[in-house]
Amino acid sequence: MAVAIGAHPSEVVFTASGTEADNLAIKGLAWAGAERGRRHVVTTNVEHPAVLESVAWLARHGFEVDLVPVRADGIVDPEAVAAAVRDDTAVVSVMVANNEVGAVNDLAAIADLIADREVPLHTDAVQAFATLDVRVGGIAALALSGHKFGAPQGVGVAFVRRGVPVDALVHGGGQERGLRSGTYATAQIAAFGAAVESAVADRVRLRDQARAQTDRLATRLLALDAVHRSGPADPAQRLASHLHLQVDGVDTEALTFALDHAGLAASGGAACGAGAVKASHVVEALDVRADAVLRLSVGWTTTDDDVDRAADVLVDAISRLRAGRPVVA
Ligand code: PLP
Repeated sequence: MAVAIGAHPSEVVFTASGTEADNLAIKGLAWAGAERGRRHVVTTNVEHPAVLESVAWLARHGFEVDLVPVRADGIVDPEAVAAAVRDDTAVVSVMVANNEVGAVNDLAAIADLIADREVPLHTDAVQAFATLDVRVGGIAALALSGHKFGAPQGVGVAFVRRGVPVDALVHGGGQERGLRSGTYATAQIAAFGAAVESAVADRVRLRDQARAQTDRLATRLLALDAVHRSGPADPAQRLASHLHLQVDGVDTEALTFALDHAGLAASGGAACGAGAVKASHVVEALDVRADAVLRLSVGWTTTDDDVDRAADVLVDAISRLRAGRPVVA
């Protein structure tokens, strides 16, 4: 793991999930900052709930939080992040790549811009690691999750740079430099190590395959009327594995129901609560006005046949729904 991200082995802290790694880094850096009078946190409005709920918890415990809004393509402007940093900022957290829209941030630019502010920069690299060469230069802390690249669920990693003060969340026998006490989950960690090795060895091939597959899917779907792609225009600023679409003339819930019925696992970029479908915080942040949004992604098991079948199912479901015809026989 350390070799893959350019870290020292002692800087790799095994956790039970990417969520736990985000919590450890953000709360741990924030509390260590508070001990030096710093009680301000900067992050973006499209982070994963593991980050947003961590900073919300910090806000309930006396921290001030600034959520920097992303641009309409889902990328955060590095200058805007730097401008939000104050003398009392304890931690800055910006994800490498967004899990819904796939927008890839320029972490190196952010690190450069805040380098002289002595503020630790944390990044959630959970979605990025499978297809991007994630390195820790300029970064104080970083979160990864094994199940995103072939390890079993239940194991993640927090990279925590040596010399950067971080308070532990889990206290006990002092394992993992005292940052995460508890007996190691050896089997999961061994599986995680094997998955890292094969993910890194296979990364370029997977990225090319994923790019070709999402392009193939996009070509079929963007040929329909009133279907648009969200996110950065430049493919280099998008995760190869992600395709985020705006679809007019159909309802998100009806569309995802139709896809689910056809055996296609897709997300509507929405969270359902108490019978109501509400746009996700990412869809809201991008100011998407379409009737439906669809988040599609491919992985290392996806075949070209899967992609063609998915395209057939999607084209059929969208045209049926638009024509008011039933999607389920
Ligand atoms: N961060 C991002 C960007 C994610 O996409 C996810 C999972 O989907 C997580 C954090 C949480 O990781 P885990 O499922 O290991 O808790």
